[in-house]
Amino acid sequence: MYGTNQQLPDIPNEDLHENANQQEPVPTAPPISNMDAVAGYDNMQFTNFALPPPPAYQDIIGAPPQQGDMQPVVPAVSEEQARQALAQYVSSKCCYGSRAVRDLVFTNISPSTAIHYQLETFTEGRQASWTYEPYNGLPIDGPQNGPAPQPWDIAVNPPAMFKNSSSRLEVPHTASVKTCHSCLGSCTKRCWKCHGRGNLLCGSCVNGHCNVYRDGRNHRERCHACFGSGRKRCYKCNGTGLCPCETCAARGTLKCYILLVVTWTNNVSDHIMERTALPDHLIKGVSGKTVFQAEHQQVAPLVTFFEGEINTASQRLVQQHATQFTGQRILRQRHVVRMVPVSEVAYTYNNNSHTFWVYGDENRVYEEDYPLKCCCGCTIL
Ligand SMILES: [Zn+2]
Ligand SMILES: [Zn+2]
Ligand SMILES: [Zn+2]
Repeated sequence: MYGTNQQLPDIPNEDLHENANQQEPVPTAPPISNMDAVAGYDNMQFTNFALPPPPAYQDIIGAPPQQGDMQPVVPAVSEEQARQALAQYVSSKCCYGSRAVRDLVFTNISPSTAIHYQLETFTEGRQASWTYEPYNGLPIDGPQNGPAPQPWDIAVNPPAMFKNSSSRLEVPHTASVKTCHSCLGSCTKRCWKCHGRGNLLCGSCVNGHCNVYRDGRNHRERCHACFGSGRKRCYKCNGTGLCPCETCAARGTLKCYILLVVTWTNNVSDHIMERTALPDHLIKGVSGKTVFQAEHQQVAPLVTFFEGEINTASQRLVQQHATQFTGQRILRQRHVVRMVPVSEVAYTYNNNSHTFWVYGDENRVYEEDYPLKCCCGCTIL
């Protein structure tokens, strides 16, 4: 299968050293000038993806939501529930003493409701580039089968809505078979290790002899690795001076085609309305009561929710998402309003005042000033 390489520099006169740090070649893309023109895929390269903008499409906006029975739910935790939640929280911390949970005195439990608005916009982006692979001899789908479909006309369905994912596919009717530009169709390349000589200088000796220290003195002995010749057959090419071509996997031809990469992204924006000192972002991680949800190709912003701040946030985020995703197509949008209970719990322990919060249907606890905590690894009972 080995042929002759053309247009190569002369094979060097001297063997190269076995341990020399030669670079193994990496496959190279064909020159772009070898590629056929494909309508709708101009300026396409091998290295960079081009992003064709989506064609103009009709925004289909859902009807604005009407005000339903979205009333605030304000369930307060009882003292017993607050103590239990704190006990569970303290037991999850290795250096927190539990005595304060038992002995604290509640002074006030103040219930409130946090409101979490979330807008999700599910977008699709498409990119294309030339690509190549060793040609395996199977039939290809080239221009003889018709003109290539435009990047956004190819039907590709996302595997799941509102989940990030991507898909790669060959654009129909763009494939062609080209002679490998790297080996010019010979399937082989000059060996990168020995530069085509087939031999390497032995790495264990100098000119076939080694110095061995034995019985208190140095002996000059014949090298066992090369049997005294000072050179070895090249282990990469087995002495032939030629290696299989990396670019075409020694097949001599390449299949070139346009690769389409479709990327689906779920873009999420939140607005949290929370009036206590509890850090707002914590509300995203707990359960509450869903009081409104809608899904459409593009949703209409909230206008009639009883909290004006949520309407304003909805309008701002819907507007932002409508213009933010340049070059992508909006496939679907949904938004939701959740109400999450928050109880601010004040208590005294050893005549000092402290606060913690119980939030979410899970009764999760947040605090900053629990009296019995220690960071030095000791145990406080
Ligand atoms: Zn090749
Ligand atoms: Zn040797
Ligand atoms: Zn070699």
